[in-house]
Amino acid sequence: MKFEDVFGLEDLKQKLVSNVRQDRLAHAQLFLGPEGSGNLAMALALTQLIYCQNPQENDSCGVCSSCVKNQKLVHPDVHFTYPTVGAREKSTTFIENWREILEIHPYFNTTDWLNNIAKNENKNPNITKEETRDVLSKLALKPLLTLISRKQQLSNPFIFSKDFFRSFLLSAYNTFL
Ligand SMILES: [Zn+2]
Repeated sequence: MKFEDVFGLEDLKQKLVSNVRQDRLAHAQLFLGPEGSGNLAMALALTQLIYCQNPQENDSCGVCSSCVKNQKLVHPDVHFTYPTVGAREKSTTFIENWREILEIHPYFNTTDWLNNIAKNENKNPNITKEETRDVLSKLALKPLLTLISRKQQLSNPFIFSKDFFRSFLLSAYNTFL
């Protein structure tokens, strides 16, 4: 997703682009906002810009191999974690659902997501202990693709949505007890 595909939030877009261009992007970003706002879309646009091989003045190019991989949600250095259903499930189990819902509607909410993965079975979303361990192991990975020097400093950018951050903190807390 490009920044031009995200509705509004022009000031924030400019700040994020400026931070990337000046190599001043924080090692972690937390996007906060109500459901249905552009948090996830903005995180995807930022991720695409970080990895873009031919960044434009105010956005990613949208056509280089990294942009194409990010648009298809298959970039090997971009990992997703989100609430799932089931006691020991990990996000990777639901990656096709994740790609499908993002392609259809990148502004989906938690209810939309649960309807997609649990088919109205009235289950509660959860980030499991197994998922927390998986996230920690992914954070230790080195980038698979060769990146230019600016991006090597951002070898493991981590972008949280609000709901994920809350669940992850709780799950991490339980994991380490
Ligand atoms: Zn690109």
